[in-house]
Amino acid sequence: MPPVLNSPLSITLSITQTCNLECKHCYADCKASEASAEVTTGEWQRFLDYLVRNDFISVYFEGGEPLFREDFLQILEHCARRMMTMLRSNGTLINREMAHRLKQIGMGRVLIDLMGARAETHDYFTGVSGSFQKAREAVRYLLEAGIDTDVLTILNRRNMHELQEYLELAHELGVPRAGILRLYPLGRAKSRWDELAMSLQEQMAVLNSLAPPPGLTVMKSWHPNDRNCCWQAAAVDPFGRSIGCAYLREYVDYGNIREVPFLDTWEHSLYRELRSGMVEKSCPTCDAVEGTRGGCRSAAYAFHGRWGAPDPFCSTLNDGVDLRVLPSRLLSKGRKPTYSPRR
Ligand code: SF4
Ligand code: SF4
Repeated sequence: MPPVLNSPLSITLSITQTCNLECKHCYADCKASEASAEVTTGEWQRFLDYLVRNDFISVYFEGGEPLFREDFLQILEHCARRMMTMLRSNGTLINREMAHRLKQIGMGRVLIDLMGARAETHDYFTGVSGSFQKAREAVRYLLEAGIDTDVLTILNRRNMHELQEYLELAHELGVPRAGILRLYPLGRAKSRWDELAMSLQEQMAVLNSLAPPPGLTVMKSWHPNDRNCCWQAAAVDPFGRSIGCAYLREYVDYGNIREVPFLDTWEHSLYRELRSGMVEKSCPTCDAVEGTRGGCRSAAYAFHGRWGAPDPFCSTLNDGVDLRVLPSRLLSKGRKPTYSPRR
């Protein structure tokens, strides 16, 4: 069974739903225009104080594009010397000066998204010519500034033939780690599922064919790494909603940090259920080695509609689910979170 925490140690803050890009697969459905109800600078700062007081040790900023928020550095400065900080970014707003500024403030680690190994592939996703070149340059500037930097990609039908090249690019850029993430049916990725999704067999064939360059660590979110990490997860969306994990953003709402203390939302009955690790079945290896069970709850819920269902991205738990076909309920417009703040 998973370890039991009285309160989480780390949290993801999706601090904006705005972005200077409009990627075809964006999970957050980001746009450049400002969403008026986003958590304000002062509210984020007070929330960070609350996290420090309650022994959180790390914060992971994502978005949208965090650096597209004009106050991001102000928010970062507020916590960087009191918590470990990580940032996920598209890299386009990180020039040499920004990289040094981030280092000076105390940024711990940055993860830059590359949606392929080639400009035409990456720029196809972002819709912005030159964004691939800027992302590559950002990696170099961050490393030059002395910031621990990784790259991430999301495996899909459009970049499946350049994954080996992606690993070689990561090596050439000088990062120690390259992540390969699975595609989730969220945001705009959901509406482009037919174009982007691959069967599990196709995904495994690509992953098994990879030969990482020496010295490069490859992080993959499939078995045996497809752990059920809900036991320690915490996340808040740009509007203050406690959502457990960024991958649960369309499914849950445990309460709003503008109205209730975050640790009260941590006690929501569904939050407790997901943390408990109670699932219908689990791969024996994960149970024994990882201490976690059943794989990712977001993927399980997306494809089966049950929180305890098996994760169909796991080859031992897939049970014949065709990952190229989405359940129709996911595509219905105006979906509301499955659980309201009431308990
Ligand atoms: S860069 Fe990231 S946040 Fe921005 S649109 Fe693309 S996927 Fe969304
Ligand atoms: S939804 Fe998936 S990725 Fe998110 S915390 Fe739960 S298991 Fe981990």
